Amino acid sequence: MRTWARARRARLCGRCGERIAKGAPIFEIYIEAGIFSVKVPKVRCQTCAGIPVPADLAPLVEVSSAITPTVPIPTGPHVLPLDFKSQQFREPGEEG
Ligand SMILES: [Zn+2]
Repeated sequence: MRTWARARRARLCGRCGERIAKGAPIFEIYIEAGIFSVKVPKVRCQTCAGIPVPADLAPLVEVSSAITPTVPIPTGPHVLPLDFKSQQFREPGEEG
């Protein structure tokens, strides 16, 4: 399968080695052979693709993958008791 897409990060063309900026159009070539397919596409720049970029190519939409806590997590010196180290210590055989 061959398709146009926007570069989600800075890439290099797989044919000429030209630097492709983030958000620039790239030509992706997915190799498929029967039931097998290569997951990572081959990337080509606009010059090496040989076909013009479609005018209706969607702009790059960035999706944030940052993990944000949904519950406020307390931080600071008041979170742990002052003697938390001594509370972790137990004598051998001591219950707790
Ligand atoms: Zn190229």
